[in-house]
Amino acid sequence: MSLKKEFTEEQIRRMRNLYTGKYGDKVTNQIETKTYKDKHLEGDIWEEDGSVWTIKDGIRETVNPYDEIYKSLMIPLTCPKCNTIMNKRLDKVYYPIYENCFNCEVDKRDELEKEGKLEEYLKPKKDDFLDKSFEEFESFIRDKVATEINDAAENGDEQNYEGGYDLDAVEEYIQKARLFKEKQKE
Ligand SMILES: [Zn+2]
Repeated sequence: MSLKKEFTEEQIRRMRNLYTGKYGDKVTNQIETKTYKDKHLEGDIWEEDGSVWTIKDGIRETVNPYDEIYKSLMIPLTCPKCNTIMNKRLDKVYYPIYENCFNCEVDKRDELEKEGKLEEYLKPKKDDFLDKSFEEFESFIRDKVATEINDAAENGDEQNYEGGYDLDAVEEYIQKARLFKEKQKE
């Protein structure tokens, strides 16, 4: 799998700077890390003013943390419950979590609300989905770091990686995401 096909040059550059001691120079590396923290670069995801933000193609925008996950999930043509074709946008949003179409979900929740069971129904679904989203995110990051390191070795770029890998920064990034995820569960 080629890293370059999935990332922009800017993202690859940022990952290199973040995950490696590329410059060998400790001071330069600290400045890079500081820039990353304060200014936010392409592909960063952070929380601010109660929203989740990212920078996509150089433009700052809010992000639904679930969006990327939805896109990657397979959605069947018809709802397994009512057999209607799931072609509405909300069907694609609801199916991966609730395993039925949006209309079925509305009906189900009306029923549960009447019985006073809506909260207990929703909480574990949401928590489970957050856990899975985070797991995917974490393995995505770790895979990319490993791929990057392997590619560098194969391309004979080892000399660019003198100074060692800044794996602390990787861990910090992942821990921040983990905390964010846990906060969403409260
Ligand atoms: Zn349905």
